[in-house]
Amino acid sequence: MQETKKSELLVLAMDLGGTKIFAAIISNKGQVMAREYCLTLADEGPEAVINRIFSAIDHFLSQRNINLSQLGGISIAAAGAIDFEKGLITSSPHLPGWHDVPLRDIVKEKYKVNTFLINDASAAALGEYHFGVGQGVNNLVLLTLGTGIGGGIIINGRLYSGASGSAGEIGHTTIDVNGPRCSCGNIGCLEALVSGTAIAREAIRRIGQGERSSLTKIAGGKIEDITAEEVLTAARAGDSLASEVILKAATYLGVGLANVVNIFNPEMIIIGGGMAKMGDLLLNPARQVVRGRAFQLSAQVVQIVPAQLGDDAGVLGAAVFAFQQEVD
Ligand SMILES: [Zn+2]
Repeated sequence: MQETKKSELLVLAMDLGGTKIFAAIISNKGQVMAREYCLTLADEGPEAVINRIFSAIDHFLSQRNINLSQLGGISIAAAGAIDFEKGLITSSPHLPGWHDVPLRDIVKEKYKVNTFLINDASAAALGEYHFGVGQGVNNLVLLTLGTGIGGGIIINGRLYSGASGSAGEIGHTTIDVNGPRCSCGNIGCLEALVSGTAIAREAIRRIGQGERSSLTKIAGGKIEDITAEEVLTAARAGDSLASEVILKAATYLGVGLANVVNIFNPEMIIIGGGMAKMGDLLLNPARQVVRGRAFQLSAQVVQIVPAQLGDDAGVLGAAVFAFQQEVD
């Protein structure tokens, strides 16, 4: 590991997602000094995942020849509802079996360093605000569109975390009271209509009803395995069913964003996560719905833009969260 200047502080930041664990060493200047990934294998439950987090940290530190004493702390961004104060993952649709798991204290106990826990989308909002497309934008909302939908809110330059730390769950606001069931148990959430899972499910449902689409061939006849990525590929190639499925999701996204615009009057809404790859195919119809539905004054000022930092947003934000607290 390269020598760091005295003024430079380092944090080991992790992004604990339903699919992968991403670890990075981050400086207080926002420099990502090293990165490493491993699979979460979330289905194995909390104990196995926590052991995998420990192995990832141990492996990372030994591989890079980093001593714990060089670090200002460990900061974890996790997919789920986080109790900031107690350092708990209270529940997570993407981490089965995680209920009130005191992850912050478990990691702190093991490594004896300052440890922090933050929701992954809140972390991504902090990351984009400090180092990405949201720099200098003091009122912004970030949505991560992936398998699920997360949200993070910056108001007057500060992360808004709410009364118990769980603000920003825009993915679980109700868009259609008669809609499909969501992974959270509610009906018709934004996530149940717009996430990658929802897009794939809608394409599979329509093809299952006998509609024709090039997706049948793309999926090698295994319709149930169609992914949101394949729907995007088919739409780009001119497949009309795939285009309609994405347009429908984009319309629901626009409804969700119009609500966000009316509530927060943000200067910017940042769209991150795997589905941000859909770009204007998704964002243009959503922008149009926002202009049609949100109050004019708010709709005129808001920019709806793709995220800039990719996978790094969560770890950068987790590091910012740590630097803002007691790291010194
Ligand atoms: Zn939900």
